[in-house]
Amino acid sequence: VLVVEDSLTASKSIQRTLKQNGIESFAVTKPSDVLTGLRSFQPDLILMDMYMPDCTGVQATRVIRQHAEFLSTPVIYLSGDGDIALQVDALRLGGEHFLTKPFNPVFLNAVVKSKIERYRALRRSMQHDSLTGLLNHGTSKERLATAVNLASTKDSQLSVAMIDIDHFKKVNDKYGHPMGDRVIRSLAWLLRQRLRKTDLVGRYGGEEFLVILPGSDADQAFEILDRIRRDFNLIKYAFEDTWFDATFSAGVSQFPSKANTEALIKDADEALYDAKHGGRNCVITHR
Ligand code: GH3
Ligand code: MG
Ligand code: MG
Ligand code: MG
Repeated sequence: VLVVEDSLTASKSIQRTLKQNGIESFAVTKPSDVLTGLRSFQPDLILMDMYMPDCTGVQATRVIRQHAEFLSTPVIYLSGDGDIALQVDALRLGGEHFLTKPFNPVFLNAVVKSKIERYRALRRSMQHDSLTGLLNHGTSKERLATAVNLASTKDSQLSVAMIDIDHFKKVNDKYGHPMGDRVIRSLAWLLRQRLRKTDLVGRYGGEEFLVILPGSDADQAFEILDRIRRDFNLIKYAFEDTWFDATFSAGVSQFPSKANTEALIKDADEALYDAKHGGRNCVITHR
C-alpha cells in the first residue's frame, strides 16, 4: 500500500496498523512524491489523504490516472469529514472507497485487503489467457520488452521462440473444436512443466505460443525446445476407439543478434516459416 498523507502522525499510525496485518506499505507526505513512490514501490493500492496543503487527494489522483500504468490501481480516500462534493468528484475518478479519520483499524484492514484481492484477481485475468492460463498476447509482448531491457543492462543472452501447432485445422476438423482446445492446453501445460520459472510463456495467438528464455543463447534454446517438441509428439489423445497425436514447429531468435522486441519476433517468425516449409515438426534457429 502506498500511503499519501501529509500528517506524519496519521501516516505512522496507518502504517503501524497495516504492518500488524501483514501489509507492506510505503508513505509519502508530499503529493509531488506520489509518482516516484508509485514507480519505485509498485503498490497494489493507494491510501490517499483527502486534504493536503498543496492539493486535494482528488487532484493528486487525477494526476495519477493520467499515467496508463496506474489507471486501475485502486484508491481509498481518507477524509476527516463528509464533504459530499469532493466525494462525488473522487468517485468519478475511480475512487474505490472512503474511510473517515480517525479510522477503525479492523475496518481499514478489511477494506484494504478485500480491495487488494479484487485488484490482483482483475489484473491476473487481464494479463492471462483464459483457456491456458498463460500470459496473453499483449502481456507476452510487454514482458519480452522488459526481458530485453534487462538482458541489455546485464549484458546477458536471451532467446525467443515462436511455436505453432502443425496442421491444427485438421485437428479441429477431424476431432472437433473442444478436442483442439485440449491439444492447445496440453502444449501449454508441457511448456510450463519443462521451462524454468524465469522463462516466460505466452499464448500469442490461437495455436501459437511465444517463449522467452532469459540467459539462454539460441543453441541452448534449440536444445530445450527440440526436447519439448519430441515429447509433445509422445502425448496421445484418445478419440472414440482410436487415438491421435500432434506436432509443432518452432523458430528461434536471439538477443543480442537482434536488439529489440520487434526484430526478435520477426526473426523467430521467419525461422518458424522455414520450419513449416521444411516439412514441419522441427525447430529452426534464425541465422
Ligand atoms: P500449419 O501447420 O501451417 O500451422 O497449419 P494450421 O492448420 O495449424 O494452420 P493455421 O495456423 O492457419 O490454423 C490455425 C487454426 O487454429 C485455425 C483456427 O480455427 C484454429 N484455432 C485458433 N484458435 C483456436 C482455439 O482457441 N481453439 C481451437 N480448437 N482452435 C483454434
Ligand atoms: Mg491531511
Ligand atoms: Mg497458426
Ligand atoms: Mg498451425
